[in-house]
Amino acid sequence: MSPSMLLKVIAPVFVFTFCFFVVNISPAQEKYYSELRSKMVRTQIRSRGITDPVVLEAFLKVERHKFVLPQHLLFAYNDSPLPIEEGQTISQPYIVAFMTEALKLQPTDKVLEIGTGSGYQAAILAEICDSVFTIEIFQKLGNKATQLFSGLGYKNIFVKIGDGYKGWPEKAPFNAIIVTCSPTHVPDDLKNQLAEGGRMIIPVGDYPIQQLVLLEKVKGKIREKEVLPVRFVPMISEEGTKY
Ligand code: SAH
Repeated sequence: MSPSMLLKVIAPVFVFTFCFFVVNISPAQEKYYSELRSKMVRTQIRSRGITDPVVLEAFLKVERHKFVLPQHLLFAYNDSPLPIEEGQTISQPYIVAFMTEALKLQPTDKVLEIGTGSGYQAAILAEICDSVFTIEIFQKLGNKATQLFSGLGYKNIFVKIGDGYKGWPEKAPFNAIIVTCSPTHVPDDLKNQLAEGGRMIIPVGDYPIQQLVLLEKVKGKIREKEVLPVRFVPMISEEGTKY
């Protein structure tokens, strides 16, 4: 077969393959993931008592499958945490929803997150609030999340690589603080960076036994209560020791 004949045979095959995968399969995949998201919200989140419509809307919108490792795509909407790089985890959807709802967020709120990880929790917060400041101790994770946020068009998420134990004093005070790694005590710096009327949710304890603690600053004083037993990765220092 002459080269021009070969081209005539190969070209349509190439065009068909391109259309099939890029044009046809992608929307079908998006529809598939969107159905999985609706099911996740219905069966894992709403059914367990999360009712804030703003929170539910954010979970329907944020594409969790974009935040997991490629080898875990099939499990992106499962009722479980999943491993990410650096031995860390993206939390179970219900826990992300529980912590988000507990903060009683307003559209004008400025939020601090400690533990960017995959970036999923930050994206959920960014759908609800004015701005999200998120700190990640592993450079690789922080850089990856930054790229993902920019690819997804988020302009209200600001990532810092460093130790979140000290918070982000230059940007304080925050209307809400969410901590997604676990220290054995609530860091004083985080309490100090909470605005009047602000709320903080944080897993506290020694792995594997931790309690989610909800704090609120009222007239300068901190009130706190335990709300749910959980299991999070430990909060670590730059030297790798646990707080
Ligand atoms: N919110 C994340 C959950 C990530 S797991 C998500 O939605 O995917 C907790 C993260 O906290 C890990 O990425 C871990 O590297 C990070 N971490 C642990 N100690 C930290 C510290 N002192 N400061 C900032 N991040 C920390």
